Amino acid sequence: MRYVDEFRDPALGRRLIAAIAAEVRPDRRYRLMEFCGGHTHAIANQGLAALLPEAIRLVHGPGCPVCVLPVGRLDMALALVRRHPEVILCTYGDMMRVPASGGDSLFSARAEGADVRMVYSTLDALAVARSTPHRPVVFLAIGFETTTPPTALALTRAAAEGLTNFSVFCNHVLTPPAIAAILAGAGEGGGAARPLDGIIGPAHVSTVIGSDAYAPCAARFGVPVVIAGFEPLDILRAVLLLVRQVNAGRVAVENEYTRAVTPAGNRRAQALMAEVFAVRPSFEWRGLGAVPASALEIRAAYAAWDAERRFAMPPLVGRENPACDCGAVLRGALAPRDCRLFGRACTPERPQGACMVSAEGACAAAWTQGPAR
Ligand code: SF4
Repeated sequence: MRYVDEFRDPALGRRLIAAIAAEVRPDRRYRLMEFCGGHTHAIANQGLAALLPEAIRLVHGPGCPVCVLPVGRLDMALALVRRHPEVILCTYGDMMRVPASGGDSLFSARAEGADVRMVYSTLDALAVARSTPHRPVVFLAIGFETTTPPTALALTRAAAEGLTNFSVFCNHVLTPPAIAAILAGAGEGGGAARPLDGIIGPAHVSTVIGSDAYAPCAARFGVPVVIAGFEPLDILRAVLLLVRQVNAGRVAVENEYTRAVTPAGNRRAQALMAEVFAVRPSFEWRGLGAVPASALEIRAAYAAWDAERRFAMPPLVGRENPACDCGAVLRGALAPRDCRLFGRACTPERPQGACMVSAEGACAAAWTQGPAR
């Protein structure tokens, strides 16, 4: 298959690994963070970390949309469906299993009688709203810049159609401020615990925001960024480019994923997002705490479709499971297997934290390699 098979070629992979080994300096270590949960899973599924020289350590980052949503925002969604039994809450499947305060979840709320429905897209949620005009339908929107344009599109369609029973509980977050927060040492324990030498930039997000969006962050913190696709050769090539930059003392944003990412990104998607959303002054992230200008809210022009305004949803401060180390895992300060619950109390069947629930979570990725060390 074009664009897939040629990026999984074993012979090319061996050549790239040899090239990386030849570049690595014996006197130094390279801590490289893959920001995106999709990369974390690709690295785990392909066993890439074990193929790299010992001097290279791949550290997972906070790029899992389900994982970074703080418990308080999930508590707000639960409070909404409990206080308003007439509401149909639509969301992506992973969100339904994430533990909220006290171990509740949207699944447990559904078992109690709340009308919580899994959808595959914002268009599904709009279809629910069209087919049940007598009931309010709320879409629980999460995710980075990849999933934001579809939410913006749903809001513009709802406005154009006069679909007054539809609204969005907006939790969309922004990638560059999160990378800056990690590099600035945000969160309990000070960010990624030890300095990072480079960032493997996200693939899908970068198709929307473009590679130029990372330049201010790279320059401010002196950390190179290489945007990579999801195939094994993409990731190995990104590692090679980062090692070369580190060795040369160079700090630049490079784009390995040129078949999909451009410097400016998708201007139409950016314009759509700008029409519908404004940047929040601050937003709480699981693991990073409050990060300035790191999330989006619905503009006043679309207030009629903003669930937070419409249902006067009060902000809630959630209670994390104190035994779950998701926060440290999301900062790259702790490896999933170093959480004392990993593979014991916490498994994909009985997840204790968001990082084990989500298809993009670091703990779920580590689990794909088995419960043992
Ligand atoms: Fe949380 Fe489970 Fe991951 Fe531990 S293994 S950090 S409890 S999700």
